[in-house]
Amino acid sequence: MTTKSKLLLIVTLMLIGLTAATIVNTSLNFREYSINSAVDKSQMAANIVKDGLTAHMVNGIMDKRQYFLDKIATSNNIKSLWIARGENVISQYGEGLNTESVRDAIDKEVLKTGESIQRVVENSKETTLRVTIPYKASTPVDNTNCISCHNVNRGDTLGIISMEFDISEMRSSGMMTILKILGINILFIVIVLMLINYFVTPYMNLFSNMQEGIKKAYSGDFTHEFASKVGGDAKNVVEQMNSLFRKMQETFGNIKYNLATFIPQGSVSSSDPLHEAKTIISELSDIYKFKKTIELDGSKDEVYGRIIDILKLKYHVGHFAFFEVNNVTAERKLIYTTEEKTMCFEKTNKNALNCRAFRTSSVTISTEFPNLCKACLDTDINYVCIPFTINHDISLTVSMTSDKIEEVDLMKKNISSIKHYLEAAKPVIESQILMEKLKDTSLRDGMTGLYNRRFLDEFIDKILSQASRSNDTYAVLMLDVDFFKMVNDTYGHDVGDKVIVALSKILKNSIRESDLAIRYGGEEFLIMLHNANDEGMRSVAAKIHSEFAKLSFDVGTGEPLRKTISIGIAKFPMDGDTIWKCIKYADTALYEAKNTGRNKIVEFKADMFKSGEDF
Ligand code: GH3
Ligand code: MG
Ligand code: MG
Repeated sequence: MTTKSKLLLIVTLMLIGLTAATIVNTSLNFREYSINSAVDKSQMAANIVKDGLTAHMVNGIMDKRQYFLDKIATSNNIKSLWIARGENVISQYGEGLNTESVRDAIDKEVLKTGESIQRVVENSKETTLRVTIPYKASTPVDNTNCISCHNVNRGDTLGIISMEFDISEMRSSGMMTILKILGINILFIVIVLMLINYFVTPYMNLFSNMQEGIKKAYSGDFTHEFASKVGGDAKNVVEQMNSLFRKMQETFGNIKYNLATFIPQGSVSSSDPLHEAKTIISELSDIYKFKKTIELDGSKDEVYGRIIDILKLKYHVGHFAFFEVNNVTAERKLIYTTEEKTMCFEKTNKNALNCRAFRTSSVTISTEFPNLCKACLDTDINYVCIPFTINHDISLTVSMTSDKIEEVDLMKKNISSIKHYLEAAKPVIESQILMEKLKDTSLRDGMTGLYNRRFLDEFIDKILSQASRSNDTYAVLMLDVDFFKMVNDTYGHDVGDKVIVALSKILKNSIRESDLAIRYGGEEFLIMLHNANDEGMRSVAAKIHSEFAKLSFDVGTGEPLRKTISIGIAKFPMDGDTIWKCIKYADTALYEAKNTGRNKIVEFKADMFKSGEDF
C-alpha cells in the first residue's frame, strides 16, 4: 500500500469514527428530548384532565365528562385517553361509565401505589408513550375540597388518568436529522479527502521521486534529477538535492578516476561504487603503511619477511611457498614455505623454467586446466602461482596451495591485491639489491674507503633512475687539490697519500648518508649531494674548502705543509639533463677555478662550456 493510500485511509477512518460518534450522540439526545417533551405534554394534559374533571364534579356535570375527555384528547393530539375509578370511588359512586374501567396492569399499579408510570413502547411501526397519573384527593389549600364529597382521606388515590401519545413522528424526524448529519458528514469526508489528495499528491510524487533518486545514489549513480510541482520549501529542497547530487556526481567521478590510477579498475568488484571506492581506499592505505614500513627495513630479507606476513595475516593463506628466482641463471631459491617441502619437483629449483608461472610470466591456477604445471603432479592439491618480476636480474614467485576449492576461490580473488603489495615492495627490493651490491669491496677505493670510479660507472645510472622517479636532485661537486704534484715531488708519495686520506676524511664528515663521495681520480673527488638546495650545496662546498685549508701536515722540515683545493659545482638536473653531463659541467667549473687562480669554489654557468664540446 502506498503512503498516500495509507494517509487517505487513516483520515477516512478517523472521519467515519467522528461521524459515528456524532450520530450516536445525536440520536440518544434526540430520543431523550422527544420522550421528555412528550412526558411534559402528558403532564400538562393530565393536569387539564384533573382540573376539568374537578370542575365537572363541582358543577355537577359529570355526565358530560366523556365529551370533555374526547375533546382534550383530540385537541392535544393524544392517541387515547381514559380514566378509571379507584375502589373507594367505585364503592361510593359505583363503576361509572364502561370506558372508565381499569384497562391494564399499569392502571392497576398506579391505583395501588399512587405513583405515576411512564413507559415508551416501540415496535417496527410506531413508538408510543404511555403515561398513567394518579388522581389524588386534594388538600384544603386548593379551592376544591375533595374530601367534602368523597369518603376518603386526604392524599388517597381517587382514580387514574391514562394517556397514550404517538411519538413515531418524533422518531422519524430524529431519523431524518441523523440522515442529514450523515449526509453532511459524508460530503465533508469526500471534500476533505479530495483536498488531501489535491495537496498531498505532489508531495507524495516528490517523495517517491526522491526515493528513486536515493535508491540510484545507493548504487553510486548520482545522475538523478529531482523534480517537483510543489513550491516553497519543497522547491528549495529539490534544488538543494539537485545541486548536491551534481556535486556528488562530479566528485565521485573524480574519485573513481583518481583511484583507477592507483589500482587498476576491476580489481575490486562490487555493484556499489561507493563501497568499491571505500575498499580501494582502505587497500591503498594498507599498502601505503606497508610501503612506509618496508622502506625503513634494513635488508631485502626483512622485506621478504613482511610479504610473507601479509600472505599469512592479511590473506590468511594457510599453505604457500615464496621463491626468489635469478632471471639470468633461472636458478630458484626457496625463501620461505609453510610446509616441510614445496609441492614442486626438486629440479624446478635448479631450473626455474620448469615452473610454468615463471616461464610464462603469468598467474598459473591449477583449477583452470588438468595438470597445468608439469612441475607439480600432485593432483589432489590445487595451486595458484603468482610470478612477479622485480628487475632484469630477479623475480619472485608466490605459490599458494590448498585441497579446499573454496580456499582456491579466495586465493584467486586476492591475486590482484597480492600483486599490489608486490608492486609496492618492488622499488624497495630493487634498492635493497643495489645496497647489497654497493657493499661490494671492489667498488671502493682501498686507501680512502670512498666509492671508486668503477662504482660510478656501474651504478650511478641505476641510482639516478630511482632518483628521477621521485624527482630527486643532486648537486655535483668536483674537487681537486691545488698543485698536488708538487707535494709528491717535494715531500714524496707518502706525504701525498696522507694529504689524500686527510681530505677524504673531511669529505666523509661533511656529507649525509644519502650523499655520495667518490674518488674520481688521483687527488680528484666527486661529491654528489642528494636533494640539496643552493644554500646547502654552497655551505657544504665552503665547509670542505675551509676545513681542508685549515689542515697542516708535518713534513719533517719544521715548516708544516698547508694545501688548498679548488671546487667546481654543477646541478642535476638544472644544469644538465643527465648526471654525466653534470659531472662534465662540474669539471668545467673546476677547470675555471684552476684557471682563475685556484683555491676557490666556482659554480657552473652555461657560457663556460665551449660549443662543440657537447656529448
Ligand atoms: P693543479 O693545481 O692543476 O691540479 O695541479 P696539480 O699539480 O695538482 O696537477 P694534477 O691535479 O694534474 O696532479 C695530479 C697528480 O697527483 C699527479 C700524480 O702524481 C698525483 N697522484 C695521483 N694519484 C696519487 C696517489 O694516489 N698518491 C699520491 N701521492 N699522488 C697521486
Ligand atoms: Mg691537482
Ligand atoms: Mg688532479
